[in-house]
Amino acid sequence: MSVLPRSLQIALTTCCLCISYPTSIQAQSLADTIQSDYDSHLALLFDHFHRNPELSLVEFKTAARMAAELNAAGFEVTENVGGTGVVAMLKNGPGPLVMMRADMDGLPVEEKSGLENASKATQKDPITGDIVPVMHACGHDVHITSLVGTARHMSANLQDWSGTLMLIVQPAEERVLGARAMREDELWERFGTPDYALAFHVASEYEAGRINVSDGSPYAGADTVDIIIHGVGAHGASPHAGKDPIVLGAQIVLALQTLVARELSPRQPGVVTVGSFHSGTKHNIISDRAHLQLTVRNTNEETRKILLEGIERIAVNMGRVAGLPEDRLPEVIVSEESVPPTVNDPQLAQQLRRAWQTEIGEEVVISEETKGMGAEDFPYFTVDPDITSVYWSIGGTPKEAFEWAAAGGPAVPSHHSPLFKIAPEPSVTRGVQSTVVALKELMPAD
Ligand SMILES: [Zn+2]
Ligand SMILES: [Zn+2]
Repeated sequence: MSVLPRSLQIALTTCCLCISYPTSIQAQSLADTIQSDYDSHLALLFDHFHRNPELSLVEFKTAARMAAELNAAGFEVTENVGGTGVVAMLKNGPGPLVMMRADMDGLPVEEKSGLENASKATQKDPITGDIVPVMHACGHDVHITSLVGTARHMSANLQDWSGTLMLIVQPAEERVLGARAMREDELWERFGTPDYALAFHVASEYEAGRINVSDGSPYAGADTVDIIIHGVGAHGASPHAGKDPIVLGAQIVLALQTLVARELSPRQPGVVTVGSFHSGTKHNIISDRAHLQLTVRNTNEETRKILLEGIERIAVNMGRVAGLPEDRLPEVIVSEESVPPTVNDPQLAQQLRRAWQTEIGEEVVISEETKGMGAEDFPYFTVDPDITSVYWSIGGTPKEAFEWAAAGGPAVPSHHSPLFKIAPEPSVTRGVQSTVVALKELMPAD
């Protein structure tokens, strides 16, 4: 438990009182209860987090505030798990152990949303050492505010569920480092291995309040690959005296495109992007080295294998085609910082979809497959050992913004944009509501 400044202690003491809802409020619908907690507590908390974002790995104040909020909600809180990570436990009788995760980091982006509570924060980047502007440009402020709302609701309604709830406040999602750091800090060994793992992301591409849950893979797996091409340097006017790594590199880049186009099933998504190609120093020098940097995306292990083995095969054999000796063939280095795909358990996705349709509304729940191949580090919580999990999304953009964009107005800003603008009230309240419904579904009182 953290030591809090006196002013915050007073604020939290007041908050504690809010947790014990009077009977009349308990009788209200779930949506009304959550709305009243939003009005009295969560709105201000979101505003605080939005104004005060922190970069990956240095989320010190955010973590301390989250620890204080979760402690005030009656949870047993442990800080500094895998860096700035926070784990909050609430044991409430027999039943499964269910984990809910919220990531808390901001991004090095200067906010230009025009909002009254736009971030003006700056921070020293722990990796580059530069002072950079910081913004919650991915909506992780919605996630942590919702987690507090969930904690307060679950602890105020112990009669509605039975089991153990584990809330995880995760650092450094944007650098895909935080989940792994928490696991390496013996997360499961210390707090128990969950029977179920849950998480959601607010999504600017969906209408505010919508719940999207897929039976498939909401996020791709990602690998980072380097290809080092060893050439033989020569005068630019005497190409016959060398082996040109730029020409060979260009051939490799083009040949790699056949992996997705010709080797994967057309129904199987995959991406091979060469994001960087560096070689040479001057017009008339044939370089002796080229360096390609790739990102490789998949939605299952089979695709990953085809792509990674194909990259190695193409790079090495194109070196042979160019006449390089066996000990000078291109080197293919696959980084250990691989992220597995986020894959929903289809049965659990269907169970939660039905619960949300019943408890929240048929019209609210959609089931669209993700269009992009973005990655998440949530799977570090759900593989090795495999844990049944579902990752859903909550729409965050008001309907009017889509209508305005369709009529020729400004486009709806995407995640990581300086213009990113989530409507907090419908996002946070639906975030809490969908989480509470899912938790009660998995930990019924009987
Ligand atoms: Zn992001
Ligand atoms: Zn994000």
